[in-house]
Amino acid sequence: MSALPTTAVIGVIGAGAMGAGIAQVAAQAGHSVILHDNQPGAASAGIDNIRRQLEKRVAKGKMRQDEVDGIIARLQPADTVEALADSRLIIEAIVENLEIKRQVFAQLEALCSPDTLLASNTSSLSITSIAANLERPERMAGLHFFNPAPVMKLVEVVSGLATSAEVAETLYATASAWGKVAVHASSTPGFIVNRVARPFYAEGLRLLQEGAGDAATLDALLRQAGGFRMGPFELMDLIGHDVNYAVTRSVFDAYYGDTRFEPSLVQQALVEAGRLGRKSGQGFYDYSREGQHENTAKPQPTISAPAQAELPPLVVQGEPGVIAPLLERAQESGLEVVRRESLQPDGTTRLRLGDLVLALSDGRCAAERAVNEGLEALVLFDLCLDYRNAGAIALSASHATSAEARELATAFFQRLGIDVVWLTDTPGLVVLRTVAMLANEAADAVLQGVCSAEDGDLAMQAGVNYPRGPLAWADSLGLAFVHRTLTHLQQSYGEERYRASFLLRRKALTEENFHE
Ligand code: NAD
Repeated sequence: MSALPTTAVIGVIGAGAMGAGIAQVAAQAGHSVILHDNQPGAASAGIDNIRRQLEKRVAKGKMRQDEVDGIIARLQPADTVEALADSRLIIEAIVENLEIKRQVFAQLEALCSPDTLLASNTSSLSITSIAANLERPERMAGLHFFNPAPVMKLVEVVSGLATSAEVAETLYATASAWGKVAVHASSTPGFIVNRVARPFYAEGLRLLQEGAGDAATLDALLRQAGGFRMGPFELMDLIGHDVNYAVTRSVFDAYYGDTRFEPSLVQQALVEAGRLGRKSGQGFYDYSREGQHENTAKPQPTISAPAQAELPPLVVQGEPGVIAPLLERAQESGLEVVRRESLQPDGTTRLRLGDLVLALSDGRCAAERAVNEGLEALVLFDLCLDYRNAGAIALSASHATSAEARELATAFFQRLGIDVVWLTDTPGLVVLRTVAMLANEAADAVLQGVCSAEDGDLAMQAGVNYPRGPLAWADSLGLAFVHRTLTHLQQSYGEERYRASFLLRRKALTEENFHE
């Protein structure tokens, strides 16, 4: 299906943060755009604001003045909705209210030709429901841009029950022609991104609530070990706790209270206290002195002091698999690395430093694993996106592990140039449990026909800058390992929240991947 030609006039309703941004995107792609807002003067103000933003780019040498003039000339403000009558596509970005959106679309349907395409930028309402009373609901779809629309690459093309495949394909091709990364999603709560991203916040909040580590330390681990651009606490502070909590609540309610989406009391308390994040001056972090003493005001992660222990040769039992780059780093640091066959029936890799056993977490806490495997001194380490470049790593030890053995583990990672963070003995540590839960949610979205595995991964990378798509990440870890991790988390907490998606389970059993 081809994109709408640039000769097609695009109508945008709502000249707020999103509507103005979407109008700019369409005008930048070469369309004439009519921007309507029901507040008199708001559409003109929106266009003035676009001009100011673009002129900043001219001042920085990133755009030419004649390009700006061309874009602004293609944008026309309108205080009446009738001005949209000749649009080929109308994108609605007004207040998030089902009744008001329904009225606006009914009004548009009466006004426009039968083949005008209608789209809503809603974040949380059902497209099926918005379109329900239309005479031709098949021409209506969601076109979900992310904030700020001119910058964020992703657009979710959301099909309601009645949306025709042709309309969804035309919108997909049009968003792609506008320079966006388009993905298809079916109209289900949270679509792709706002659903699959929930565990990123939820697991952080759980770890904080359980005292596994403080916010600054957990954020640093997700950045430096997980490769995420921001940790969950700094990100929630940026989004605003009122907004993030409301999205979590709405997804939780929409899935009839599925505990996988359960909101956090920690976040609720912040909302109740008015600590909404950056915008209110305080959230998990204090921003009130920002600019004055920025470096001193921000709490630093709790990392271990340099350990003095002398390291024995590192004995590797089993195939290194995902931790192979860690062993290369050990070798490059001058440490003697000795390979042995695995003694474990399941082929699990163990590293030994004298009597100390080091192993990648598998979702069990160290105490449980030490008991199950009959180990005296056991230290678990966390997953890293890339062990070759990780700057920090989380460790936890079984109860019987001596202070000397912990010191040895600290010295090992420090020798490789990796900062060490000791956590209380927590199942799945930080990055592993977060990634396992993200992949689980993405797998369930695929199972339920919300999106394809390809679009699910693309959405998380282009929409929220994840360093790797959760399903591709799970493939690379081995789906059997991810499934085992989730099962261990479920056993550890006794909660349905950690139940593995059936699709993940089946693929693990049949040794298939999500991507070929
Ligand atoms: P906003 O409050 O900044 O802007 C909404 C604009 O719509 C206002 O200018 C208002 O005057 C106008 N408006 C309200 N009712 C109208 C009507 N009946 N007719 C014409 N204009 C009307 O809101 P926003 O943040 O731009 O959000 C708009 C939509 O985009 C919502 O559905 C929201 O869920 C969705 N969305 C928001 C974000 C975000 O981060 N802000 C991201 C993605 C999607």
